Amino acid sequence: MSSFRSTSVLRLHPENKVFNERIKELSGEEIDLCFQCGACSSGCPMTQEMDYLPSKIIRMTQLGLDEALDSGTIWVCTTCFNCEVSCPRGIDVANVMESLRQLVLRKKYDRVSLDELTPEELRELPPIAIISNQRKLTG
Ligand code: SF4
Ligand code: SF4
Repeated sequence: MSSFRSTSVLRLHPENKVFNERIKELSGEEIDLCFQCGACSSGCPMTQEMDYLPSKIIRMTQLGLDEALDSGTIWVCTTCFNCEVSCPRGIDVANVMESLRQLVLRKKYDRVSLDELTPEELRELPPIAIISNQRKLTG
């Protein structure tokens, strides 16, 4: 848990505020403390497979943008916790990713269905992404 106090001066639209607060509640992370240093993204081993960098996902949740739910990044994250170690604000990005996945799954929307992928597409996927995907779907 970070010893920093929230320094956010953002004034969010009420709808965005609801999403921002929901992510904070589900993840237990003080996402408003993020100051976009990029350390989480630079240490992430999966960025080549992501549409948005981890730091960008955190920024989207800060701003209460639920477009983060549509990002492929949240399904590619392997919960390796590299970002947690490198974040100067003590934010565990993996927890934020998990909270976003929870919200998507609660809407009964499967971001990735392995049954719908061709053998070629399956071969191109990193094995860890398949394992992570299956864990999220059965968890
Ligand atoms: S936990 Fe996810 S976002 Fe963080 S470094 Fe690992 S793969 Fe990247
Ligand atoms: S390392 Fe922490 S403070 Fe830096 S961009 Fe990532 S979440 Fe924000």
